[in-house]
Amino acid sequence: MAGIKVINENCGQEIFDQFNEICPFGAFTFENNKMEVTAACKMCKLCLKKGPEGYVELEEDEKEEIDKSKYRGVTVYVDHVEGKIHPVTLELIGKAKELASVIDHPVYALFIGHNIGEKAKELLHYGVDKVFVYDDARLAHFSIEPYTNAFEDFIRKENPSSILVGATNVGRSLAPRVAARFRTGLTADCTILEMKENTDLVQIRPAFGGNIMAQIVTENNRPQFCTVRYKIFSAPERSEEAKGEIVNMALEEKRFASAIEVLEIIKKEKGFDISEADVIVAVGRGVKSEKDLPMVQEFADAIGAKMACTRPNIENGWFDPRLQIGLSGRTVKPKLIIAVGVSGSVQFAAGMQNSEYIVAINNDKNASIFNIAHCGIVGDLYEVIPELMEEIRNNKNVNETLESEAV
Ligand SMILES: Cc1cc2nc3c(=O)[nH]c(=O)nc-3n(C[C@H](O)[C@H](O)[C@H](O)COP(=O)(O)OP(=O)(O)OC[C@H]3O[C@@H](n4cnc5c(N)ncnc54)[C@H](O)[C@@H]3O)c2cc1C
Ligand code: SF4
Repeated sequence: MAGIKVINENCGQEIFDQFNEICPFGAFTFENNKMEVTAACKMCKLCLKKGPEGYVELEEDEKEEIDKSKYRGVTVYVDHVEGKIHPVTLELIGKAKELASVIDHPVYALFIGHNIGEKAKELLHYGVDKVFVYDDARLAHFSIEPYTNAFEDFIRKENPSSILVGATNVGRSLAPRVAARFRTGLTADCTILEMKENTDLVQIRPAFGGNIMAQIVTENNRPQFCTVRYKIFSAPERSEEAKGEIVNMALEEKRFASAIEVLEIIKKEKGFDISEADVIVAVGRGVKSEKDLPMVQEFADAIGAKMACTRPNIENGWFDPRLQIGLSGRTVKPKLIIAVGVSGSVQFAAGMQNSEYIVAINNDKNASIFNIAHCGIVGDLYEVIPELMEEIRNNKNVNETLESEAV
């Protein structure tokens, strides 16, 4: 592994003090007049950039460059529970097609389960070139060991270049295990993906609490893995014609072994999922008191919207945590979202900026929510919402009158 090497260990106390001051991880030690770097080093490289010259250097690994031309195909892992395909899979297929077209690679889908033949054929209506199917009764339920083995088997046989996995419970547990087997990189929760002509996948996601958008590239390892949450990308249209082929794969007997035995599956009652809502009213800290929520709820009900919120309103206990939108909450992409008293922090925006139509109500005309809103109302929500309600009631009355006259 690459590391920081002290090239002049007899540097003296003063120089050590300077390095000690610079290193955020306390990795420098000074004993018996010798400076050393310990295992606490996190390779932030600040000492190289800011430290006095001539005392430390970067010791690079000599790693052979991989031949990227040996890896072909952008693969999507088909996320499913008992054959029911999670919609994130189609969204990823749409993105995989875009990425693959840049480098003229095929699009693959990897489907592991049991009795999934018909479902696999359905994927051929979405532009997948090949669906690789591991179909066996022992793969009927998700089990981490045989699923990882099947995934590994597929990669060893097909050498795909990039792999996209939905950031579902299954995807989040499977992708890192498989990536670790190939000692390759994985970027979780990407929000943007781009493809370079040299087949490097640029994996973009908010980092450091959403304060920067990091661009992560796996330069010298393949395959390159990423996970993406549901509702980040758009699913392609289903075409009438099915193109591409189904490839049935076989897994060695011993690779089905698992230390986990599924005794029984008890289905959890499916609660309402805010990411499924078509219309959302998102409540921010501009709503001053919990007592004021019924006013917003009445408005939401009147337009057929579901209520959701920003993180501070979860922290103060006003909403169920599953209703938080954002980086550390849910990602939503409704037809309409109305942000009421929401500033539009990067962390909130990361979870809703792909919504079809964004309306913001805020009394600060400089609030950053207006940068992503399609329509903005600058005003006090305590005046704007009652006015909107008044409009809705008037319209309702007019409609009722027209209906009764028509009868
Ligand atoms: C690692 C990390 C992850 C995070 N994840 C999330 C996340 O997933 N989701 C999330 O929401 N936040 C998240 N946050 C918090 C985020 O940084 C913001 O603090 C939060 O989004 C702010 O919420 P807000 O817009 O409701 O409040 P504020 O930023 O306080 O904004 C309130 C807004 O209301 C307006 N306002 C005030 N009074 C009125 C009025 N009478 N009428 C109209 N407008 C009014 C103000 O002008 C202001 O713009 C995260 C932070 C970190 C560090
Ligand atoms: S690379 Fe960073 S963590 Fe490592 S010794 Fe230098 S300053 Fe400390």
